[in-house]
Amino acid sequence: MEIKLPKFCFLEDKFVPWEEAKVPVSTHALHYGTAVFAGLRGYWNADENQLYVFRIRDHFERLHKSVRIIFIELKYSVDELIDITKELLKKNEFKCDVYIRPLAFKSVGPKVVGMDITEIPSSFLMFALGFGEYLPLAGGLHVCTSTWRRIPDVAIPARGKISGTYVNSCLAKSEAVYSGFNDAIFLTEDGYVSEGSAMNLFMVRDNTLITTPVYADILEGIVRRTILSIAEDLGIPTEVRPIQRSELYVCDEAFFCGTGVQLAPITKVDHREVRDTDLPLTKKIQKEFFATVRGKNKKYKHWLAPVYE
Ligand code: PMP
Repeated sequence: MEIKLPKFCFLEDKFVPWEEAKVPVSTHALHYGTAVFAGLRGYWNADENQLYVFRIRDHFERLHKSVRIIFIELKYSVDELIDITKELLKKNEFKCDVYIRPLAFKSVGPKVVGMDITEIPSSFLMFALGFGEYLPLAGGLHVCTSTWRRIPDVAIPARGKISGTYVNSCLAKSEAVYSGFNDAIFLTEDGYVSEGSAMNLFMVRDNTLITTPVYADILEGIVRRTILSIAEDLGIPTEVRPIQRSELYVCDEAFFCGTGVQLAPITKVDHREVRDTDLPLTKKIQKEFFATVRGKNKKYKHWLAPVYE
C-alpha cells in the first residue's frame, strides 16, 4: 500500500503542520476507544486536473449519526465539515488519490480515569494521506471465516463506526493474515454472515447480487449502498437478506466493498473456489464503480465533490 504523508492536519480548529499535530497522553479516547471516525476517498482525475471526493455529504451525515450514539459533541455542521475537508486537501496540494480520516473523540477532562464520559469534552481532528489499494483489486482474494464473531449491536453498535469496536476487526484481520489469508469474514452471534473485517460483502447466486442486511451487525456502508444503486441501474437483480456461511461455498462470485477496499473480488472462501472464477458480474460492477468514483461517469457525478474550483 503506497502512502504519502500530508503537510498539514486539522486539529482543534486549526490547520497545523503534520509533525506538530499531537494529543495529550491522557486523552480519554486513547485509553478507552471513545471516538468515532469516518473514512473517505478522493480520486484524482488527471484529464480534468481535479480531485473528486466521493459521497462526502453521506460520510459526514453518517459521522453526525455516529457521534449521537456515544455522546460526542461534533461542533461542525455537515457543510462546515465539507469546507474543512476541501481546505485541508487544497492546503496539502494533493494531486493523487487520497484517503481522508476525520475523528471525533473524547479528549481530556476532569475524570480521565473512568467510564463516565458525560463531562469529558469532545475534540475533532482530520487528516488525509496519499493512498493506493488497501487490498489487491486484481487476482482475487482468499478469505477465511473468522473464529471471532462480529460484535453485536447490543454490545457496541457497528453502525456507529466507533473506534473501540475496531479491536474486533483487528483481531479478525490479524488472525486471517497470520493464517495466510488476505482477510476475514465475520459471522454474527447467531451464525449468519455479517461482513468483512472492515468492509461489506456481496455474493452472486444465479445472476442475483446479494448482500447482508443491516441487522447482521454491519456498518451501513456507503459503497454498499452505491453498489446496490449501480446494480439496479444496470438491471442486475439485487437482494438484501441473511446469508448462511455455506452459501459462500456454493456462490458464483463474491466481493468486498467499502471506501478503503473499494471493490475487491474474492475468489476463495475457506479454501473453496467461487464457481465462476471469471467473475463476470463483479467485473461489470467494478468497471462502473471505478468510472463513477473517478468522475468518468456523467450519470453519477452528483456523488462527487470537486476540491479545486
Ligand atoms: N464495514 C466496516 C466495519 C467498515 O469499517 C467499513 C468502512 N471501511 C465498511 C463496512 C464499508 O463502509 P463504507 O462503504 O461506508 O466505507
